[in-house]
Amino acid sequence: MHDGIATLPFLMGEKVAVITNVPAEICSECGASFMKTYVVGNIETLLDRIEEIQSEVSVIYYKAA
Ligand SMILES: [Zn+2]
Repeated sequence: MHDGIATLPFLMGEKVAVITNVPAEICSECGASFMKTYVVGNIETLLDRIEEIQSEVSVIYYKAA
């Protein structure tokens, strides 16, 4: 695993949020990415905000709080 930046999709019912620039651990072998634990709270806040948006697909640039 090494540090990197990931673009991660999140499904919320019928809506999809794609969050880019997420600090992540990237698997050196298969390239799978896992968001770092310290960003989870921020992501949840972002997703809460997105739930109020009407569009079905949202792309959000992650910024550290
Ligand atoms: Zn892997």
